[in-house]
Formats: sequence, structure tokens, C-alpha cells
Amino acid sequence: MKIKVDFDACESNALCEAMAPAHFQLDDDDYLQILDEQVSPEELDNVRRAVAACPRAAISLEE
Ligand code: SF4
Repeated sequence: MKIKVDFDACESNALCEAMAPAHFQLDDDDYLQILDEQVSPEELDNVRRAVAACPRAAISLEE
């Protein structure tokens, strides 16, 4: 599975980073960085929590 982010929708509130810090991180300028867009089976639950937590529906998962 692969992470897609709509950066225009993102409001930089770091909820995704809290749920899946191996994949999402806000940089020093508060821009969201994707550390690793490929999601391993071990990380899938964390990334799904990040998708669910995003109030802007900016994150999606695709095959
Ligand atoms: S949870 Fe959504 S709005 Fe918040 S930083 Fe992550 S992608 Fe952006």
C-alpha cells in the first residue's frame, strides 16, 4: 500500500504524525513531509489511524 496526500488540503495539525510518526513528519516550517510513502504490513494499522484522524481527509491509501 502507498500513501497519497493532498497537500493543498493539509492544515499541518500533525495528527497524522502522532498516529504514524514513521511516515509523517512536520518540518521546521510546518510543512508535512512524507518520510516513507510505502506502507509495510506492520505499519498499516498506524497509517489507517492517521487516515482516520485527518480532519481534512487529506490522506489516502492506494494499492
Ligand atoms: S492529519 Fe491531515 S491535515 Fe493534519 S497534518 Fe496530517 S495530512 Fe495534514
